[in-house]
Amino acid sequence: MAGIKIYDFHETVYSSVTDSVKAGESPAEIMDRIHQLTQQRAAEDISDEEASHIKCRRGCSHCCRVHVPVLCLEADTIAEYLLSSLSADDIEELKRKLHYIKVHIAGYDEQERIIANIPCGFLGSEGECTIHPVRPLVCRSVTSADADACRRAMTMSICEENAFIPMNILHKSIHDSAFIGLADAMKDMGIDCRSFEITEAVLQRLGKRIV
Ligand code: SF4
Repeated sequence: MAGIKIYDFHETVYSSVTDSVKAGESPAEIMDRIHQLTQQRAAEDISDEEASHIKCRRGCSHCCRVHVPVLCLEADTIAEYLLSSLSADDIEELKRKLHYIKVHIAGYDEQERIIANIPCGFLGSEGECTIHPVRPLVCRSVTSADADACRRAMTMSICEENAFIPMNILHKSIHDSAFIGLADAMKDMGIDCRSFEITEAVLQRLGKRIV
């Protein structure tokens, strides 16, 4: 995950994660604390005036058509959320959907996935994120000050052109620091700190067998 690292916040997240792991907290508890710390830091550093330019809203999902990298603790938390909130039938339906996406994005780079227009498996029918309370740090990091620019960027990407999307870089840097602080802490605590695309990572945790 590229970005500017805010050192003191990286250290805050790193300490929080190492303390939580030593205390035997669950992935959901660890991630909940990180999300709270990140929200708090963003609220402290980003003025109401700056925040008012952010146009990301429920139902606006232009950006939910790209690969989303997640760390193991994030994938564990998402799987736990789904298993505790969906029926067994809904889990099986979701697994079939994730399996379909996994097969169809295999080997695709970012641009090829956009061209194929394969949305995230957790995008709902009304353009909402169905795992919003536990959505990954990468998704939380992205903001846009112009929803039309996001739409244009997706179209221009298909034509192999770059488009400018105005976003809040400080908001992104806070989340980048949280992601890196989490990964660094996981590494030092002996937890697999590689990132995986969300589709495969969550599918694995829901159980491989597709019925
Ligand atoms: S997890 Fe949610 S916010 Fe992130 S890409 Fe998927 S639907 Fe969009």
